[in-house]
Amino acid sequence: MKTAFQSQGGIQIHQFECLSDNYGFLARDEASGEVVCIDTPDADACLGEARRLGWTITQVWNTHWHPDHAGGNYAIKAATDCRIYAPLLELDRIECVDYPVSAGSPLLVGDNLVDIIDVGGHTLGHLAFHIPAAKAVFVGDALFPLGCGRMFEGDPDQFWASLKRLRQLPPESLMYSSHEYTLSNALFAIHVDPDNAELCRYVHDVQTLRERGSWTVPAVLCRELVCNPFLRADDPIISAHWGAGNDVAAFAALRKAKDIF
Ligand SMILES: [Zn+2]
Repeated sequence: MKTAFQSQGGIQIHQFECLSDNYGFLARDEASGEVVCIDTPDADACLGEARRLGWTITQVWNTHWHPDHAGGNYAIKAATDCRIYAPLLELDRIECVDYPVSAGSPLLVGDNLVDIIDVGGHTLGHLAFHIPAAKAVFVGDALFPLGCGRMFEGDPDQFWASLKRLRQLPPESLMYSSHEYTLSNALFAIHVDPDNAELCRYVHDVQTLRERGSWTVPAVLCRELVCNPFLRADDPIISAHWGAGNDVAAFAALRKAKDIF
């Protein structure tokens, strides 16, 4: 199994592939030894990776209710007796939740504060988990490199407000998305914004990485701010063309166009 490892600010982040195209993530606080499993796409894979590293999962954070994000809760709880945190708004659709949380709820991994951010739109209660010490944000299916999640439950107002919240994070933040959709997103992005020189370089980098079988996740937020059309629906060029000057209308039109691209 292919895996990757990052360490920053006393937090180790282990990333691995699971299911057909999900990424799994384990984050460990070195000082306390606490280990968070961010989403539970595949309990066997999450537990197996933790075991291989000699880590014990002490917390689960669910970003949203979809089964490839919360389907492993029961088995991971049974194996580890960890504490499970999940979106309050999606409580009726997620198993074994100990702590329903929403934007601003207090959360710690070891002594590290975690910001919980409302990123509803893909689902109504979708949350992102930002660990400032690690310069890392786990965004689930809200935001992808050069794209964003499908709008299954929310509306354009809600989703655009969510993306604007993510834009406020420190630009050096690493964005951990839950799927590898970047190549398809890149083709749409360049269709929307063909004269964006940095986007052209980014698309080239994505093609090179994918040809080698390398991952494009995590992506660094500052590059997304310049290149991701869904984070730039209020850029005058994009909003004029796609929304007659209205940001929300431009976001809605981009999302609709990508669905059938
Ligand atoms: Zn989803």
